[in-house]
Amino acid sequence: MVDVADHSRASACLVLLGPPGCGKGTQAARLSERLDIPAISTGEMLRAAVTEGSELGQRVGGIMAGGTLVDDQTMADVVRDRLGRDDAQHGFLLDGYPRTLPQAATLSSVLEGRQQQLDAVLFLEVPEAVLLSRALARQRADDTEEVIRHRLHVYEEETSPLVGYYNERNLLRRVNGDQSMDEVTASLLEALEG
Ligand code: ADP
Repeated sequence: MVDVADHSRASACLVLLGPPGCGKGTQAARLSERLDIPAISTGEMLRAAVTEGSELGQRVGGIMAGGTLVDDQTMADVVRDRLGRDDAQHGFLLDGYPRTLPQAATLSSVLEGRQQQLDAVLFLEVPEAVLLSRALARQRADDTEEVIRHRLHVYEEETSPLVGYYNERNLLRRVNGDQSMDEVTASLLEALEG
């Protein structure tokens, strides 16, 4: 059980899982505030690196634009680094990581080394037809329908196996993401209390 009420003792190690366009970013920001833990979005971190033009950014820019995944080793370095910072010592909410089974194994070993473990994996479920229409509605200039479909395909192939993986470990909490933003937030908090 995760203590949602007492901010002063927040120490939840959480993952937010769900397909592209399921609303993870919005909900991560809300949960972060409510639970007083940092929301760590690997997508945002990589986009910042691209904007900065750092060595990492130059390496991953093209991969991201095509909707393909950055390699697990690079992501392991990014996440290990980020979780090592002060603000993440008493809990965090990961958004966009892990995205593959090897990344899940890496996360568990990183946490083990810190004498931590995941408390819950919140899985935001949204039907594929809804995802596609949402994605097309807010299409960025460089997001062709083809890239959007590719992202969904990569999610199905690489990321959706994590649902079974975390379910087997009794960490998975399914939440209906096909509701209003406020209802989704309420459902997520409820899932953590349960
Ligand atoms: P979305 O737009 O689906 O919310 P993100 O913002 O989480 O996606 O990530 C954008 C892109 O960054 C991904 O398509 C991928 O190329 C890269 N990326 C982010 N997180 C990861 C990860 N854990 N593993 C591999 N690639 C990642």
